[in-house]
Amino acid sequence: MGIIASAISADGTIVCHAIDSTDITGRIQGIHRTSPVVTAALGRLTAAASLMGNQLKGDSDSITLRLKGGGPTGSLIAVSDSSGNPRAYVENPVVELPLNDKGKLDVSGAVGKEGSLFVMKDLGMKEPYISQTPIVSGEIAEDITYYFAQSEQTPTVCALGVLMAKDGSVACSGGFIAHLLPFAPEQSITLLENNLRDLPPVTSMLAQGKTAEDIALTVLAGSSAKITAQFPAEYRCGCSRARVERALADTGSRELNAMADEQPVTEVSCHFCNKIYRFNPQELRELAKQAEI
Ligand code: ZN
Repeated sequence: MGIIASAISADGTIVCHAIDSTDITGRIQGIHRTSPVVTAALGRLTAAASLMGNQLKGDSDSITLRLKGGGPTGSLIAVSDSSGNPRAYVENPVVELPLNDKGKLDVSGAVGKEGSLFVMKDLGMKEPYISQTPIVSGEIAEDITYYFAQSEQTPTVCALGVLMAKDGSVACSGGFIAHLLPFAPEQSITLLENNLRDLPPVTSMLAQGKTAEDIALTVLAGSSAKITAQFPAEYRCGCSRARVERALADTGSRELNAMADEQPVTEVSCHFCNKIYRFNPQELRELAKQAEI
C-alpha cells in the first residue's frame, strides 16, 4: 500500500505532499513487465499523478498526465483518481539504454526531450481542463515543476525517484511536491531553498526507512510544520465489462459485425491492468445493434 502525507508550515505559507509509492511502482513493473529505465520513468510520472490527484476536490474528479517526449518509450500515461489511486500505461515497456553520465538510469534518454507534458483534469465539468507544457528535461520532476510554474503560476518544487534493487525488483519509489503559497514571505522562500540544498534524494530517504510523513516534514524542516493529512494509495484500475462495451460500441457497427464474422472469440485487454474481456459473435452483434441507435 502506498502512503501520501501532507504537511503545512506553522505560518501556513508552504505545503508539502509526499508519497511512498514503492508498492505502486512494483505493481506497474508486474503488470507492464517494464525494463528498469521504463519502470523508473513510469514510476516517477505515476507518483506525480498520485500526488496531484490527491489534491483534487470532487470525489469523481481525476487527473491524467501524458508525457510524449519522442524517446524510445513512446507516450507514458498516468491517471489518478481524487484519492491518489493511480493507474499507468506506456507504449513501449521494454527499453534498454546504458546508464547516464551520473551512473543512473537514463530516464530522459528513454522518455525523450522533444515534446510535451499534457495535464488533463476531469473535474466533472462539460469539458476537461487541458494544459500542455514543453518537456524541459525529460527527467519528469523538472517537467512537473515547470508545469506548475507555467500553468498554475504556483512556485513549486518537485522531486521524484525510483530505486531498483540488484535483483531487478523495485527497492523504493516516491516523491514530493512542495508549493509556496502566493503570500509566502521571503523567509519562507529562503527556508525552503536551504532545506532543498541539503536534502538527500527521495530514494535515499526511503531506503533509510523514512516514511512519506518524514519526507514531508523534512522538506519543511525549521518551519514548525505539522502533518495535515495521510492517505493510503494503491494501483487501481477502474475498468469494467460495461466500460469495455461502451468503448467497443464507439468503434461502430460495421467494425463490430466484421469482428463477429472473423473470429469465434474477440479479446479486448485493458491497457492499464491487462485484464482480458472476451466477447462472442452474438454479443458483438448485439453491441453493433446498439451502436446503430
Ligand atoms: Zn483495467
